[in-house]
Amino acid sequence: MSILLILLILVCIFAIYSIIPTLVIRAFSIGIFKSAHIKNKAALTFDDGPNPSYTPRLLDLLKSHGIKATFFVVGENAKAYPEIISRMHREGHTIGTHHYRHISNWLLTPREVKEQCRLAAETIEMITGKRPVYYRPPWGHLNLFVNWASRPYKIIMWSAILGDWRYKLGKDKLKQRLHKSLHEGAVIVLHDSGQNIGADQLAPEMMLQALEEFLQEKNDKIEFVPIDVLCQHEESKESLIEDNLNK
Ligand SMILES: [Zn+2]
Repeated sequence: MSILLILLILVCIFAIYSIIPTLVIRAFSIGIFKSAHIKNKAALTFDDGPNPSYTPRLLDLLKSHGIKATFFVVGENAKAYPEIISRMHREGHTIGTHHYRHISNWLLTPREVKEQCRLAAETIEMITGKRPVYYRPPWGHLNLFVNWASRPYKIIMWSAILGDWRYKLGKDKLKQRLHKSLHEGAVIVLHDSGQNIGADQLAPEMMLQALEEFLQEKNDKIEFVPIDVLCQHEESKESLIEDNLNK
């Protein structure tokens, strides 16, 4: 068999395991949560932290506006900065997992996905005493078995991802995108750390400035709530439909 044919087969196997399931699961929302049909509520979510420079400032900002958010933290960062995780928990934010290390599901076997979720969840539970319920895959990458391998955690994706990991996007453009993406039931992703591949280290500085101005300018009725509120609203709607069908 020629090397070219072997390469082609390997590329096909990789696509079937990683890229195709990511596209299909996202397009048809199979086993994932992206947004809710709920009045006057939306969720702000922050990935990749905690970061010792930016996350405490973000927590100060959220506190000054009375906002409860959701943090999808990387397990090894949580282990390095447990006092920031304790503060998130104390101040009423929801903490979900974002793997123990920021590794793509495209490069992990199902067993490794399970291990990454378990290790991150155990680290968070050790600090807060509360086992996380929610999981966001790094880069939003899924694979053929992720729905099974990540159980019992609920996979949370988003209705808006704004490119805030690039510093050159700029504060004004990000603020514009925040205003545009905000609607009832929206799940918005931002990043409170710029340490991962593809991100700019200073990007969270720009994000914090944009978020601060956006929150000052925002004059609608939409209240930011933790992801739990949106998920539970959708679940209660589904069980109501099931009850009605069973009657
Ligand atoms: Zn991430």
